[in-house]
Amino acid sequence: MNSTDVHPAPQAPTPPTLTPIAVAPGDGIGPELMAATLRVLEAAGARIEPRPVEVGQEVYLRGVSSGVAPEAWEELRRTGVLLKGPITTPQGGGYKSVNVTLRKALGLYANVRPARAYAPFVATHHPGMDLVIVRENEEDLYAGIEHRQTDEVYQCLKLVTREGCERVVRYAFEYARAHGRRKVTAMSKDNIMKLTDGLFHRVFDEVAREYPEITADHLIVDIGAARLGAQPERFDVIVTLNLYGDILSDIASEVAGSVGLGGSANIGQSVALFEAVHGSAPDIAGQDKANPSGLLNAAALMLTHIGQGDVAARVLNAWLRTLEDGIHTGDIAGEHTARRVGTQAFADAVIERL
Ligand code: NAD
Repeated sequence: MNSTDVHPAPQAPTPPTLTPIAVAPGDGIGPELMAATLRVLEAAGARIEPRPVEVGQEVYLRGVSSGVAPEAWEELRRTGVLLKGPITTPQGGGYKSVNVTLRKALGLYANVRPARAYAPFVATHHPGMDLVIVRENEEDLYAGIEHRQTDEVYQCLKLVTREGCERVVRYAFEYARAHGRRKVTAMSKDNIMKLTDGLFHRVFDEVAREYPEITADHLIVDIGAARLGAQPERFDVIVTLNLYGDILSDIASEVAGSVGLGGSANIGQSVALFEAVHGSAPDIAGQDKANPSGLLNAAALMLTHIGQGDVAARVLNAWLRTLEDGIHTGDIAGEHTARRVGTQAFADAVIERL
């Protein structure tokens, strides 16, 4: 037999390349939501390699003042992607917010928070709403410059830089352009804070001129918030300072149906962090009641970010079919609910529809 008669052995299919992602379950309802979300991602065929990292309350209580384990920083910088559950931050005292530490240390300058209605399956007065809030994520009153002057007087400094404004405003216009959105609305309070918010408004007007195909307007944030609550369908992309964005995005999620639905992306130059809009909900932690949709939507944003838009679409379609079939967690239960389920049964229902 000569060599030409030899049939080559059948090649085993090459396993897909897996993208490593750092995963932090978080506090409160975080671990149960993360378990549900990772089960859905695995069943959907996400080409990811989850690497657990320790971030949150337990790390802080072990004596690490940042709340982020030293190995976690290395893993975050190596993978460049973090899927994170919510983290508990004590109110009015105690340790500094781990979320703020992560955003600042990793340079996560833009927080992108989509909020859309899923009517009629999730009850809302605003079935036409479909907007995205882009929130500045490192500066403003969250820069962490807070002092005690006397026992009766405390001071928190509002830090706003041209560079920070320009980065987030440009991100909002680029986002609008890439996603076929037609209008960007800035919100600030520059009638009162003429220098800080004034700078944000001025930079917004300058950057807007580079995007003539996108309508740009500005609202004072108080009337802006009122209109967001009353007529959210008027908005497309909103770009705003850190504190206003934090408040406006919870309003938008709740008006869309539930604060349990919204996912968000925190975008930096070399790292991106994906999380739900809501917090750690200690009132329902460990009870299998929480809605995993916020973290699932965040995971879909993450999949798109790492170039797995095909898997993101599969996950979102199955998730939407679950809502349409009336399989709802308690927070969104209403007249279209056929079966009220807990966290893990909701994830099972999404998996059945993949
Ligand atoms: P929260 O969002 O945790 O809860 C507000 C309400 O919404 C509660 O009634 C809760 O039960 C409900 N809720 C929240 N998520 C839900 C879900 N997935 N399904 C069903 N219901 C849900 O807000 P809070 O009570 O103001 O904050 C609790 C803790 O979370 C605080 O320590 C806060 O600092 C922290 N927090 C963390 C993040 C984050 O990690 N990104 C964001 C916001 C708040």
